Amino acid sequence: MATLTLDEIYQLAYQSLRQAGADDANAAAVATTVTHAERDGSASHGLFRIPGYLKSLLSGKVNGNADPQPEHITPVVIRCHGNNGYAPLALQRAIPALAEAAKTYGIAALTLTHSHHFAALWPEVEALAEHDLMGFSCVSYKPVVAPAGGNEALFGTNPIAFAWPRPGRSPLVYDMATAAMAQGEVQIAARDGHSVPLGTGLGPDGELTTDPQDILKGVLLPFGGHKGSAIAMMVELMAGPLVGESLSFETDERDTPDGGPPQGGQFLLAVSPQVMGETDWAARAEGLFSRLEAMEGVRLPGQRRHTLRKDTGSRAVNDSLLADIRQLAPQV
Ligand code: NDP
Repeated sequence: MATLTLDEIYQLAYQSLRQAGADDANAAAVATTVTHAERDGSASHGLFRIPGYLKSLLSGKVNGNADPQPEHITPVVIRCHGNNGYAPLALQRAIPALAEAAKTYGIAALTLTHSHHFAALWPEVEALAEHDLMGFSCVSYKPVVAPAGGNEALFGTNPIAFAWPRPGRSPLVYDMATAAMAQGEVQIAARDGHSVPLGTGLGPDGELTTDPQDILKGVLLPFGGHKGSAIAMMVELMAGPLVGESLSFETDERDTPDGGPPQGGQFLLAVSPQVMGETDWAARAEGLFSRLEAMEGVRLPGQRRHTLRKDTGSRAVNDSLLADIRQLAPQV
């Protein structure tokens, strides 16, 4: 493992993206997302994603000069056409309008289309919580997850993220794949020679296995059996037909398989407890959180990341990953 400061991580991401053809605004937005993932210990969505970002720029699939422009469809529905670029710049530009609408009207939605999402979802819902809004978001992918009872991939890993504002404190956030494990985590386990829990996926023979290499040749399973499968299906609909974008299987049919993120849709919802609830909304939520935290063995989701965030020191980065990035962007 190599040791990189957070600034070195940012520079490696930014310079390699610039070299592969992204302009300053797009490279800076993606590099910030990647650096924040490394800072928060989300290794599967940090530098690990850079080779895929670079491949999708080099293949011409993604527009590294995208100029996404959010527009109001109604006072509370905002659409952002991603201009075939990466999601971080589109989100950076559209979230202020979403937050403003939700604070004014109590509830607002943002649809992101023609965009390539390859990151964790917590940055966008945390950004909403910083405006004292409850945030929800979901995005679909390409079929890698079998619906409960099946052994053929139909759903993406289809993450959902939720944030609850805690004025003066880090928000309560959960952000999770609806697959038993995010595909990036399975890829990292395969790379590092670790097994994964039984129930993560099926091998090419359709049998349960703990071998991540076999699962990558077979299918992932949804978390929680038929319940997770239903939520994964909901994400297909919300990030697809609801926002005017593709379902995972349609995304796959039009994707250039270059190892980078496919084009798809994203749905975001922002709700104001100040408008919708009572004046004691924050105090009552804290009542729940303090009871949870008082229980032996229980912690709040998001707490691990927020604790790691306070450490501004160096981060360990896999040597073979650095070699892969430097092969794709030799001048960094
Ligand atoms: P995890 O299973 O690691 O964590 C899911 C959530 O559960 C996190 O909010 C985590 O908080 C929380 N959590 C974990 N352990 C506990 C615990 N013991 N008690 C309470 N809360 C806990 O995440 P996944 O592997 O499912 O997903 C990883 C990432 O992959 C996500 O950020 C997701 O957005 C991303 N992803 C992106 C995709 C894309 O297409 N862009 C596709 C699929 C996934 P904490 O962080 O504090 O541990």
